[in-house]
Amino acid sequence: MPEASAAPPPAKPSKSAPQKAMEKLGLVRDIDLALHLPLRYEDETRITPIAALHDNEPAQVEGVVVDCQVELRSRRQLLVRVKDDSGTLLLRFLHFYPSQQKQMSAATRLRVRGEARIGFFGREMVHPVVKVVDDDTPLAASLTPVYPASAQLPQAYLRKAVASGLARADLREILPPGVVPRGLPSLKDALNYLHHPPPSASQEALHEHHHPAWHRLKFEELLAQQLSQLQAQRERARLVAPALQGRPGGLHEKLLAVLPFQLTGAQQRVAEEIARDLARPQPMHRLLQGDVGSGKTVVAALAAAVAIDAGWQCALMAPTEILAEQHFRKLIGWLEPLGLRVAWITGSVKGKARQKMLEAAASGEAQLVVGTHAVIEDKVKFAKLGLAIIDEQHRFGVAQRLALRNKLKAMDLEPHLLMMSATPIPRTLAMTYFADLDVSTIDELPPGRSPIVTKVFTESKRHDVVDKIRMAVADGAQVYWVCPLVEESEAIDLRNATETHAELSAELDGHAVGLLHGRMSPADKAAVMAQFSSGAMSVLVATTVIEVGVDVPNASLMVIEHAERFGLAQLHQLRGRVGRGAKASVCVLIYTPPLSDTGKSRLKAMAETTDGFEIARRDLDIRGPGEFMGSRQSGAELLRFADLQEDAPLLVAARELAPRLLDEHPEAAQRQVARWLGTKAEFLKA
Ligand code: ADP
Ligand code: MG
Repeated sequence: MPEASAAPPPAKPSKSAPQKAMEKLGLVRDIDLALHLPLRYEDETRITPIAALHDNEPAQVEGVVVDCQVELRSRRQLLVRVKDDSGTLLLRFLHFYPSQQKQMSAATRLRVRGEARIGFFGREMVHPVVKVVDDDTPLAASLTPVYPASAQLPQAYLRKAVASGLARADLREILPPGVVPRGLPSLKDALNYLHHPPPSASQEALHEHHHPAWHRLKFEELLAQQLSQLQAQRERARLVAPALQGRPGGLHEKLLAVLPFQLTGAQQRVAEEIARDLARPQPMHRLLQGDVGSGKTVVAALAAAVAIDAGWQCALMAPTEILAEQHFRKLIGWLEPLGLRVAWITGSVKGKARQKMLEAAASGEAQLVVGTHAVIEDKVKFAKLGLAIIDEQHRFGVAQRLALRNKLKAMDLEPHLLMMSATPIPRTLAMTYFADLDVSTIDELPPGRSPIVTKVFTESKRHDVVDKIRMAVADGAQVYWVCPLVEESEAIDLRNATETHAELSAELDGHAVGLLHGRMSPADKAAVMAQFSSGAMSVLVATTVIEVGVDVPNASLMVIEHAERFGLAQLHQLRGRVGRGAKASVCVLIYTPPLSDTGKSRLKAMAETTDGFEIARRDLDIRGPGEFMGSRQSGAELLRFADLQEDAPLLVAARELAPRLLDEHPEAAQRQVARWLGTKAEFLKA
């Protein structure tokens, strides 16, 4: 393909600084340049009479220099007076070269562009852009683009490079006629328009990306993204996985029988969706999402039971040791009575114990292996890994998911993959970045939960909060008290957990107050958690180590200090540690003013809703998709042009077209992906 080859401008033996800067911006192929769109435009297509200038508005005037002199008032400056038929304008330069003074000598005709200020002494422009012209120098025929550039890349150089890239790029229509939404221009027309809009163009429509030319681009981009996801999905469907089918009366049924509760309707439904996937000889790639406390663990255990019943092993990986340990205890409690062997592998399991666990996994003797990132280390071998479960999947990267899948490569089979997350993916994101993922949603909480009431206080009310806690604790309540940092940092004045622990111990004299933070040894952490779980401890002062998954149903009060320092998803996760039992729960957010705007919207969202989906939607609003995705990025390139909120209709159109294009015009689909994603498309399939 021509657009994949030559780099502009003509190749030289060694690259100049601007060329390197262009590469850094990803401007390598002609098509990359053609797709490098202006940030804004300058209007050099018209001349405004000096008398018609408005205060603070950019404009271009043309006139003849009346005089030009260096003045030494408070500071040295160059003052140039320019005159046209309607009036005079003063140009003021606070920094200037002698050459400029020469350039603007009397009687020279100048075209001047800048923002006018109309003051007591008349009209002036400070540091305008000045060009020497003749009386017949033509005006620009189109608006002048201003591109995203960098310090090493002068605007003028980039403008030339883009113009020639645009001229050279192969912009022939790839899409067959009739498939592009009506009213959109061709790609070539759209790009020409956006790089060089006519004088009549609405700067507003351009700036707000509402112009049909913009829509065409967004559609193209969304389509390429949908196509690449669809391809990845189809390629995965060609892989082979062991078909895992639980036997009637098998392990999963036995597990259901020993559970101390009935599954909710939602849990039953998702468990069936997962079981159907497992029974197929294609690898499952499913996300199980459900709000905090919705009961994902038991669904995971049921999936594990099916896999094990079918004669395969299951690995369950959690992002923190505390969470892994909690899963381990819970699963042992459920599964060992059924005769299963559960192994436990984390960074802190060492020496002989570790050796034993590794052997149990490698021999297949341990049907279930639970642990942290340690589970994917090379040394950990499985005899027959059939199912990998990743809890709180957004805490893991693509590489780690791939590593888990590769654990079965020796047999030329892929294991099934079940990912779990309490942070739901908003619909538009699910349709784009996670199009290659099947999603099961638990949309119902187990019965008997009472809603959590959230209250927001400033730091000055801390005393009242402590008083309330004293009363609650005397009444048998259990409390989490969350602090943001472990140790006092000189730069950030945060109350540290240790200090808070000492204070609360004194303030709540007679009640057991424990401390949990990331610098403690795993054994100490486990001991503290055990005390809190058993009810022997009333208050647990903790850092965010308790953020994910910790489950102590009796805890009903959560205090988060410096709540303004946490992200929305994190606050929601933390709050999810309470409201797990029948007791009415309260979450208190203490903040230190002043609050930033985003800080305000986060606390407001927390106070207004406990619905994880609503929280995720607002989080996306506050942060935008780029940050929202964070480490969840599935390796997909963030969209450059389309806005998932605003462009949902275009997304729907692209999503509908993608399968049709791939089936009926596979070659066009290929070219579309290559044009937009270049070499990144390959990575998506990895
Ligand atoms: P999460 O989805 O946040 O991982 P968990 O799996 O930790 O939630 O479940 C939260 C709590 O609810 C646990 O104590 C669990 O045993 C309990 N639970 C799960 N399902 C049910 C149910 N159907 N009925 C009653 N309690 C349940
Ligand atoms: Mg969980």
